[in-house]
Order: sequence, then C-alpha cells, then structure tokens
Amino acid sequence: MKRAIRLMLEKILRTFGGNVGYRLVREISYSRDGRCLAIPWMDADSQLKEKTIDLNYQIENQSCPFCNDNREKNVLVDQVREVGGVNTRKVVYQCPGCDFIFTNEKRGTRGDYFRTTPYQDDVTGIRRDRELDLISIGMKIASLSENCNILIYGSGNTNTRQFLVNKGLSNVWASDVAENAIYDEYTINTGKQPDYFKKAGLRFDLIIAVEVWEHYAREDIKEAFRWLFEHISDRGLLLATTSLWYPQNSDPIFNASKESGIEQLKWWHYLHFLDHTSFYTEKNIKLIAGAHGFSAEFAYFSDERVHREDPFKRAICIAHDSNLLLGKKIRKEFSGRFLDLFYY
Ligand SMILES: [Zn+2]
Ligand SMILES: [Zn+2]
Repeated sequence: MKRAIRLMLEKILRTFGGNVGYRLVREISYSRDGRCLAIPWMDADSQLKEKTIDLNYQIENQSCPFCNDNREKNVLVDQVREVGGVNTRKVVYQCPGCDFIFTNEKRGTRGDYFRTTPYQDDVTGIRRDRELDLISIGMKIASLSENCNILIYGSGNTNTRQFLVNKGLSNVWASDVAENAIYDEYTINTGKQPDYFKKAGLRFDLIIAVEVWEHYAREDIKEAFRWLFEHISDRGLLLATTSLWYPQNSDPIFNASKESGIEQLKWWHYLHFLDHTSFYTEKNIKLIAGAHGFSAEFAYFSDERVHREDPFKRAICIAHDSNLLLGKKIRKEFSGRFLDLFYY
C-alpha cells in the first residue's frame, strides 16, 4: 500500500513537475522497491560476514590509469550488501587526482579472468537486444550502409553477429577474450590474438561494447581502451553502455544529492555485482578518449526502470575529434538524449 501511494506521488510529480519534479522524487526516496542500503563492514555481524564473498586485497601499485596520480588512494566506502542473492563486500578506492573509483579484488587480469568466464546475459539486460538497439542508433548517426564494418566487442555467448548476418549485414565481426565463448571464423579471441584485426588491416565503422568497461581491472584499463580506440575507423564510432559514478552533483538530469558521492554508493546495487570493479566519471572517459584524439558524449536510457534502479546507466558515444561532421551529428542526435535502449 505504502509503495502504491509512493509510486502514484512520483508519477504526479514527474508528470507535472518536469525535471524539478523528478529531482524531488529522487531526493525523497532512494531506498526503494526493496533495495536496501549497504551495511558498513564494521557494522556487519558475524552471521552476515560469514555469508559474504570478500575478495578484497590491499593495493600495492597506486598508479591511476586516467591521471597517473601515484598518491595513496582514499577508501571511500567499505560495505556489504546483497544483489541477486549474493552478498559481496566492496572496498571502494577513489583516486584523489581524478575521482575514478575502483575495487581491488582477487580475480587476476582481465585475460585471466575472462578465460574462464565469458560475458553472459546478466540481470541488467539481455545483451543481444541492447546491442541491436545500439547498432541501429550508430548506423543512423554515422549514416552507415549495410556493408559497413561492425565489431561486437565482448560477444560472449550471444549470437548477435549471426543474427545481423541473417539480416543482411555482410561485415560483422565479434571478439571476446574468454576461452569458452562462442567462436567462429568471424569471432576472434583477442585475448590470444590481440593484433588479429590490425594484421588483417581491419578497423571498424561501429564498435559495440555493452556492459564491458565496469569489468576491466584497473591494471588493464589503459591498454583495453587503447585497443578500442585503435580499432575505430576514421568515419567510425564506438557505442558502449555502462553505469557511471557521479562524485558531485554533476549530472544535469538526476542531480539529486542522494544520487552522487557516498550517497550513491550506499544504495547502488550495480557496485555490488561480482566482478564489477571499475566505475568511471564522465570526465574519466572524456580524458582517456581525448588523450587518443577522440571525444566522448553521453546519453540516457528512456526506460523508466533504469531511472529508478540505476539512474547512472549511460550510453556513451566515442568518435574521432577530427571528424567534425560526425561530431556535429552526435551532439544533435545523441548527447543528453533519452534513447530507446533495451534494459531487460
Ligand atoms: Zn586518477
Ligand atoms: Zn557488468
């Protein structure tokens, strides 16, 4: 009953209050729909600690992949909460130089980790459907035809490539680094052959990376992003989704105080998925893109469930700085827009 009333109030506020109403809604309640707040590790009782997965270990190398700051990282939160039936302890470190946050969990390098664990559909959405949505958006923005080069990055066990081929797209490639992902002639294990496409003289007009970046270990970030940027063709773009983090009230739409900084981390279930380890600010992404001659733009999901459950989830579009025409189209058709992207 309480929930029904709250939902109705939210609807009224949102309908008649616009963004101000929306912000009010977000200020009023962030412990919603059964989403509990995280419990500080020091307050957890022994029973909870016993059923919690704790993979954290001390940081040895302090270097930041974005700003190269070597100072000791701040511990932002040390907390436990449940997501998808699994309790995880997350110790979240923050770079004092650029606000990038990460966990330091035992899981080996990205290559080691994904060798045995391919990307799969997870509760944040069926990958293929979101990949298809991004592909149609990207093809439209960059005015690409059916013979453009597409790369599905982190293809795992999805059949997006085959689906597109059946639809008449002739140049669709896929890549993963897991040993037990599905591979074929056009699906390449880039863990084993990172230079495969380079050797073949292939760059892509469209690269799609759905929910991959949050899985990069801090040590792999520089190299992983470099690989992506090097594989974007001159006329091409990269479209990704991940959930960002907002250290201050810096978000133009959801800038409620409980949706940034430590308040965000208290109730943000995304943080507590196993293997989610890196969380970027918009600035982090812009910085690393900029260092390679690219610019990054951000868009929202139109699905209201995203606004309620993970309002920090973004679509991110990256393209060459030098492609002025494409940049103009991206700013017009993508930046700050609410896009119809599959959620779940
Ligand atoms: Zn930094
Ligand atoms: Zn993920």
